[in-house]
Amino acid sequence: MQLITCPWCGAREETEFHYGGEAHLPYPDEPETLTDEEWAHFVFFRANPKGPFAERWYHSTGCRRWFNAIRDTTTYKFHQVYRLDEQRPAIP
Ligand SMILES: [Zn+2]
Repeated sequence: MQLITCPWCGAREETEFHYGGEAHLPYPDEPETLTDEEWAHFVFFRANPKGPFAERWYHSTGCRRWFNAIRDTTTYKFHQVYRLDEQRPAIP
């Protein structure tokens, strides 16, 4: 069992959290102009890196807030967590 540090609540058991996918995906500026293929790309296509990755996480059984984290996809280790209004840290 791993502890994940929520930016508001502190370290909690990982079972309190839900994964929310890749972070920092901007919503299209002019969504009405997108083709079906472009929509499909926005909705379904995600990076799948090996190593540090910026992700969204949700503290579902705690404060019920979203936050971002840099997590290593090979070790599952969280390098850093940060609020949505904070600057994205450099990937180690
Ligand atoms: Zn929390």
